[in-house]
Amino acid sequence: MNECGGRAARPTPLEDRVALVTGGARGIGRAIALRLAEDGARVAVIDLSDTGAQTAREIEETTGRATTFVKADISKEPEARAAVAAVETALGPVDILVNNAGITRDGLILVMDEGDWDAVLAVNLKGAFLMSKAVLRGMIRRRRGSIISISSVVGRRGNAGQVNYSAAKAGLIGLTKSLAREVASRDVRVNAVAPGYIETDMTAALDEPARNAIMKQVPLGRIGTPEAVADAVAFLAGDSASFITGVVLPVDGGLGI
Ligand code: NAP
Repeated sequence: MNECGGRAARPTPLEDRVALVTGGARGIGRAIALRLAEDGARVAVIDLSDTGAQTAREIEETTGRATTFVKADISKEPEARAAVAAVETALGPVDILVNNAGITRDGLILVMDEGDWDAVLAVNLKGAFLMSKAVLRGMIRRRRGSIISISSVVGRRGNAGQVNYSAAKAGLIGLTKSLAREVASRDVRVNAVAPGYIETDMTAALDEPARNAIMKQVPLGRIGTPEAVADAVAFLAGDSASFITGVVLPVDGGLGI
């Protein structure tokens, strides 16, 4: 409560910023989009799925911030470029890009076909390249911008049954560090967050023994929440992280130690 007896206003460090979150319809992307809007940003949700429209509406109702939804496949260059143009028309120039959209097609290498490899690399890695390229010209011109890509603990440690996904997530780390070096002189920061096991549809398929096995490996002894990842992204997005670029921030309960 503040001294007038009302509830203290939540700080809005991202006031006047426009944020674009790929794969923002559900899971971690949804939590990130909501969190950035709570912090004051106008948020665009980009997703393959029409659920993104509902998510954008919910964010607008909860936070009172303008939002927009653009349906697009971020692994296709014309769609990625058109999505950024649509967001800029609706909300203004993009200040914050979160490359969150991701898919898995798991299997041991001997049964993994070329399509499983290509699909995972296309969404998780090429999509981040295309979206970063599409927003960067404006960020460089305005000398302001923050790009955050959602990598994974498996991009740092590897994981049996996920050569495609781990390669894509390790590739995102390389993309992040190289791009951070390319655009630092223009005041554009580029960072990554590497979640461990997080409670979403992507991990809902794990059976009880698999969950227990995972929890035994996590020093903090639990599966994380999408909100914990969103907190890390919100930090990297804003001015509290103004001297931080090229880092990979683990949000994994210590799994990657
Ligand atoms: P999720 O629940 O499966 O949500 C992913 C979202 O991305 C979905 O809304 C999906 O749309 C969308 N998407 C997929 N392909 C797309 C494309 N080509 N263009 C646009 N949107 C697309 O996943 P999540 O668990 O929240 O994961 C989010 C990110 O965190 C991913 O990059 C994932 O690899 C990473 N991550 C997750 C975990 C975890 O434990 N969950 C751990 C480490 C890293 P549809 O609904 O149409 O499929």
